[in-house]
Amino acid sequence: MSGESVKVVVRCRPMNQREKDLKCENIVKINSPQNTAQLVCPTEPDQPPKSFAFDGVYGIDSNTEAIYSDVGFPLVESVCEGYNGTVFAYGQTGCGKSFTMQGNAAQKGMIPRAFEHVFEAVSTDTSKKYLIRASYLEIYNENVRDLLGKDNKSSLDLHEHPEKGVYVSNLSWHECKQVVDCDKLMDKGNKNRSVGSTLMNADSSRSHSIFTINVEMCEKDNEGEEHYRAGKLNLVDLAGSERQSKTGASGDRLKEATKINLSLSALGNVISALVDGKSKHVPYRDSKLTRLLQDSLGGNTKTLMIAALSPAADNYEETLSTLRYANRAKNIKNKPKINEDPKDAMLRELQEEIKILKLQLAGKEPIQAVVTNNSMSSEQIEAEKEKLRQEFESTIHELQNQYEEEKMSKEALMKKMDTIKNQYDNQINLLDESGPSKLRPGKPKSSKNKKQKKTPENGEVADLTDSSQNMSESNDPEQRLHKLEEMVVGGEQANNEELKKKRIKKKKYAEERKKLSETLKKGDDEEFMLRVYDSVQEEVQYKTKLLEKEKEKAKFLQNEVDDLQREFEREREEYLDMIRKQEKQIKLVSKLNQKIQPLIPNDCNYYNMDKIQMIAIWSEEIQDWILPDLKREKLSLPSMTSNENDLDITNGQLEIYEDNGYSQIPQQQVLLQSRKQDSFSQFMPSREPEIDRYRLKLENSQYDGSNYFKNRRQSELLSQTQDLKSNGRLSPISSSKNGTRRFY
Ligand code: ADP
Ligand code: MG
Repeated sequence: MSGESVKVVVRCRPMNQREKDLKCENIVKINSPQNTAQLVCPTEPDQPPKSFAFDGVYGIDSNTEAIYSDVGFPLVESVCEGYNGTVFAYGQTGCGKSFTMQGNAAQKGMIPRAFEHVFEAVSTDTSKKYLIRASYLEIYNENVRDLLGKDNKSSLDLHEHPEKGVYVSNLSWHECKQVVDCDKLMDKGNKNRSVGSTLMNADSSRSHSIFTINVEMCEKDNEGEEHYRAGKLNLVDLAGSERQSKTGASGDRLKEATKINLSLSALGNVISALVDGKSKHVPYRDSKLTRLLQDSLGGNTKTLMIAALSPAADNYEETLSTLRYANRAKNIKNKPKINEDPKDAMLRELQEEIKILKLQLAGKEPIQAVVTNNSMSSEQIEAEKEKLRQEFESTIHELQNQYEEEKMSKEALMKKMDTIKNQYDNQINLLDESGPSKLRPGKPKSSKNKKQKKTPENGEVADLTDSSQNMSESNDPEQRLHKLEEMVVGGEQANNEELKKKRIKKKKYAEERKKLSETLKKGDDEEFMLRVYDSVQEEVQYKTKLLEKEKEKAKFLQNEVDDLQREFEREREEYLDMIRKQEKQIKLVSKLNQKIQPLIPNDCNYYNMDKIQMIAIWSEEIQDWILPDLKREKLSLPSMTSNENDLDITNGQLEIYEDNGYSQIPQQQVLLQSRKQDSFSQFMPSREPEIDRYRLKLENSQYDGSNYFKNRRQSELLSQTQDLKSNGRLSPISSSKNGTRRFY
């Protein structure tokens, strides 16, 4: 399989106070030179430890700086070149995911280091212009919340764009000009996270957070043509990987636990499907997390997973599970590529607007020379004057339209009009004087003043920070130009030699490390292939040793198979348990349904629950059922004098609903859905049986509608009796309803 593997490193934290107090045994052995992490089973200490190899291993004394320069630096460097990158922190709660990603006062985390790195790279690069924006979101209980938006409580929807893939609509993006801007955003988001947790009874261990830095860049080639690229860096702090069902949750807590398990199991299933290579279906759609990170798993992204471990013996099961998870993830192959000429680059829009504004402002200056002839005739002068007058009028007209259209500030426009008027007067004076070489004002280019922001539907939402929103509303072109130019960064530290040297050193280190790990990977195979033996005995000895090693490996693998078998068994039990609990829940709901059913009036569309079930539509987008609105169907019985035409029949069909019956979705969508969804079209009852059903109902209503006919019949009989009494016979002209005469 071609592509680039997901890089995986593990980090083991020191014992915490509780573990120290309990005098827990340390069961994790970190072997840095070999890049292996070994785990001793506390109940079988004599068994050989389980050993796992990774792209990097970091023990209790490690620091985040080393992790960053080993594996973080090359990844973020790629983002600055236009690749997408993702860093995941995975592991049990309390094992150091947030410590590694966000850090604390003592040790900076991966996220602030990435900020520093991006700004170092950008500020020392004079060859490009950059636009850097950030967003911060949280996924809790399958709800996506914007941690930096104005409303951080409501849940945002995920949408899919044919080119851009899955994105969060209405997510706020904030431009950053320096490291502190990013730091502030992270602090703000973290505060919102904790506010959310008290409100929603969540805490960070049960939610996933994604901090994203979007780096757009623009470079001019030798011909002066501009080329755009965009790199996106996702920094993901996942929810604790421990099994939620362990906590004995029930009710809402169970639902929540199921959903948290769901997204992490979905992540595991996606990894398994990708690693397996045989599964045609990768279940990205099973959770919001996997949908959002689809590109980071097997797609166009360079991915790094940091698995956080506890060294304590009482966390053996979870640590083993984390190691296995991480071990599987390293077999995923991604297909990263530089994102060239992204259609939605906001930097492109900014640059274009800057150019337009510059031209517009340049209109204040006379820029275009016009040579007038010394010996112009008075007609020629008049013609030139007329030409100028027309130009002047059309420019003013254009500006007036612009004023209407774009509501540009009156002052700015008045200023501009004055300038043009002055220039016009000057030209006229010059012409009157018939000077030899005069200047004509450059016609100020009409600016479309593209202030419209990209819509959320475009994927990336250009809902910028407060400052830039003010900027967007600024009508003074000069002010706006200044602010736009400030947003575009790059080359500020071009003369900072020290910073440049620091960067070169880091780059060199990253390259050396890459070479070393490649050599290590190749090493074993080559040694075996190229080895020369002095004697047959030596060869036998060496190969016997190898055989022993292989036997050990085989034994280890057999243990692995047994372990996995046990793990699958346990997982199966958990799934079955969950299914049982959900079945109980379904039974309860259906019992409640049965109890309530008789209370629903028979002219209500929910009277026939089977039909409602058949026409209910499952929406993948909102992951919920869409049901028809609750309605009372007015069935008008035919009047006694009515003929067939009085029935509520249109084009031979009985009209039941005026609209599609779903207030949540438009008519077309229902039609579309019905075409798309086999199940829907299959179950959607045709009009024919509908008519039959109503005809039957009508017949039944005539049949048991003795009450309906009773009064009329009664009065008829009564009047006949009356007639008989008075005349002694039945009137020959009295007739029944159907028109047949009856004689008694
Ligand atoms: P998680 O986010 O995985 O739930 P945290 O990052 O909050 O866990 O870590 C739990 C505690 O352990 C914190 O007090 C943190 O400071 C400490 N800790 C985690 N990893 C390390 C480490 N490598 N070195 C020192 N302390 C650590
Ligand atoms: Mg945490």
